[in-house]
Amino acid sequence: MGELDEIAQVDPEAAEAIRAELARERRKIELIASENFASRAVLAAAGSILTNKYAEGYPGRRWYGGCEYVDVAETLAIERAKRLFGAEHANVQPHAGAQANMAVYFCVLQPGDVILGMDKAAGGHLTHGTHANISGALYRAYFYEVNRETERLDYGEIGEIARKCRPRLIIAGASAYPRDIDFSAFREIADEVGAILMVDMAHFAGLVAAKIHCDPVPHAEFVTTTTHKTLRGPRGGMILCRSEYAQELDHAVFPGTQGGPLMHIIAAKAVALKEAAQPEFAAYQRQVVSNARALAGALMERGMRIVSGGTDTHLLLVDLRPQGLTGREVEEALDAVQITVNKNNVPFDDKPPAVTSGIRLGTPAVTTRGMREPEMVEIADLIATVIGNLGSEDVLRRVRGRVDELLAGFPLYPHL
Ligand SMILES: *Cc1c(COP(=O)(O)O)cnc(C)c1O
Repeated sequence: MGELDEIAQVDPEAAEAIRAELARERRKIELIASENFASRAVLAAAGSILTNKYAEGYPGRRWYGGCEYVDVAETLAIERAKRLFGAEHANVQPHAGAQANMAVYFCVLQPGDVILGMDKAAGGHLTHGTHANISGALYRAYFYEVNRETERLDYGEIGEIARKCRPRLIIAGASAYPRDIDFSAFREIADEVGAILMVDMAHFAGLVAAKIHCDPVPHAEFVTTTTHKTLRGPRGGMILCRSEYAQELDHAVFPGTQGGPLMHIIAAKAVALKEAAQPEFAAYQRQVVSNARALAGALMERGMRIVSGGTDTHLLLVDLRPQGLTGREVEEALDAVQITVNKNNVPFDDKPPAVTSGIRLGTPAVTTRGMREPEMVEIADLIATVIGNLGSEDVLRRVRGRVDELLAGFPLYPHL
């Protein structure tokens, strides 16, 4: 009996939701830059009996008995994370990226301290000091943006802001920035103003593991990440830091900001980190970036404006202002032809976040499905056709047909 049938025997409604989501993942071209398809082994570990175990504390020093086997799983994850990223210390317990960031803040900041991060409207993340987030409520947040002409980070400008606001913590890393980031430049700024540097590599951790993105580990006291984006593991978070902060950081995660760790997810992180150390994983990441470049190039050839003129990473931003369209309407139109993207503000956007003037596209998921440059050109053509023919049912029907045809060549989770 398959696992879905087992769920259906107890709870047909929940089983149906899972079955429908599986069908959706198979039926649509997934271009959300923060999503990916975890391996069968990762899925199996995440669905394992380790969910039963309480293990507050750390390997060898727990607050519960019976932890000898979950200790093995967590130690594997820790050692693999340290080796993969060349880090002195790793904490693999954060439930997600937001919790990883919160733990670092709790470790090094006092309420009211000044932090400096990237403006969310320019590509930064909610947890980097946004008003609506606890990071914006507890700390005095200042922001840097991108340069208006180049649409890239301007380290001179960031230095000027840092000298004015004197942050205790500088945060580098973003959710919607398509270019490489110079972490040595951030280090220089941090040293000049006496700040601690945290790099949030949630989006591009897989590229860092494959050594095709500037490596933050030598430059930052703390590096936080998710494990489910380019890293292609289970949904979760992780923190790397220098050994001088190891004890304080572990204390900031538990008991500071979390209770019991999710041992099934930690086992799945161990599996994902083993996968990430294989040569095929580095080849996959190189293909992710080649695909993003091919997608950006083919969109530009079809008259689309790409923010900063291209990409160095797994993601790109399409500026829809030349077409006079909003991100919201294009997201909806693409969803109707089975292409999943998210609306996203472009730098210096005058539209609110619920509308936006852009869409964000990422290649990690389609690359996991096995697609390469020729498929990126086809996808660019599909997107440009939809954008050029909004409202034409005839064109949209033909595009849907082409999406089905394309996806038929790249089966997803055939064992399920
Ligand atoms: C996705 C992301 C996070 C948060 O991750 P969650 O797992 O959703 O909490 C944090 N920082 C950045 C830069 C991200 O892109």
